[in-house]
Amino acid sequence: MTSLSDLPLRDSLRGREPYGAPQLNVPVSLNVNENTHELPDAVIKDIVKRVGEAAHGINRYPDREFEALREALAKYLGHGLTGKQLWAANGSNEVLQQIFQAFGGPGRLAIGFGPTYSMYSLIALGADTEYLDAPRGERYELTPELVREAIAKNQPNIVLLCSPNNPTGTPLSLDCIEAAYEATDGIVVVDEAYAEFANESHSAISLLPGRPRLLISRTMSKAFAFAGARVGYLAADPAVVDAMRLVRLPYHLSAFTQAAAEAALDHAEELLATVGDIRVQRDRIVRELGAMGFDPYRSDANFVLFAGVKDPTRTFTDLLAKGILVRNVGIPNTLRVTAGTEAETSAFLEALAELQAN
Ligand SMILES: *Cc1c(COP(=O)(O)O)cnc(C)c1O
Repeated sequence: MTSLSDLPLRDSLRGREPYGAPQLNVPVSLNVNENTHELPDAVIKDIVKRVGEAAHGINRYPDREFEALREALAKYLGHGLTGKQLWAANGSNEVLQQIFQAFGGPGRLAIGFGPTYSMYSLIALGADTEYLDAPRGERYELTPELVREAIAKNQPNIVLLCSPNNPTGTPLSLDCIEAAYEATDGIVVVDEAYAEFANESHSAISLLPGRPRLLISRTMSKAFAFAGARVGYLAADPAVVDAMRLVRLPYHLSAFTQAAAEAALDHAEELLATVGDIRVQRDRIVRELGAMGFDPYRSDANFVLFAGVKDPTRTFTDLLAKGILVRNVGIPNTLRVTAGTEAETSAFLEALAELQAN
């Protein structure tokens, strides 16, 4: 039997583990921040129709520039954006990878503010880019001062700001983004994977004019209920889009993906109709966990990180035995839970209350 260590693997990959949130078939799956609501039948029908139409041309390569999709994404985002300022890939993870391929590389440094999205360090590793987590303040909040300090100290080529932050849920003020942009000559990436769940919009898209090094990453995987389709996108200066073209694989977005995403964007309003309910469940989780004696962090996303868990590994396993999958992100005494439907949220809260009583 050959094992990894027998192969002439790149040194930087030796002993590493792949990304591995468990994929288990359980009744209540609240571990990877999907929108757990089902899509309306009418939307599914339209997606199937458009994908079927795309099948007729599937002997040919797809539109390499996916112009129709970029126009649709620009229209969805508003702010007067045009398709020239939009880019897309198979999930925002691929967008981030392309950013690292274009602006990272050997001898270059990327920083995030930890704890933050675990894929940043993994994507940096794959692109041979050094990565480090700068510190956050009290209760994982960030301030312009902390951002400025970290950039002055480390002189990064890429700054990653997750807004709101995964896994903590912490909102990020536009002040912090402006401070980051002024403090560096490098690339500033704002990862807005959960932007649609924010109580008040503080999207960094409003900061784009006059800031060609500012990149805003978005995804259809979360609020849009489209995780399985793998569509992430970027809003930035057209020159940044040109940089993405240098590193993307030709025809990286399949004709099926383009058709499905265009159909979904035609139904944006219906797909986002569940966001209000999800916010209600998120705020309910914060409130009820607080009342149960846990210490939930404030969240602008569709999940809640909560402290006060004596033995997270044990609680994770006990919840799983009751058919409920949450996430242990490895922060001591915490667990993270996605806000699902009202029924799923009730199942989680009731199961946790039962465990507490025993
Ligand atoms: C889920 C998530 C993404 C989205 O990844 P996709 O590849 O678009 O599915 C990006 N950033 C953060 C912080 C996330 O939590």
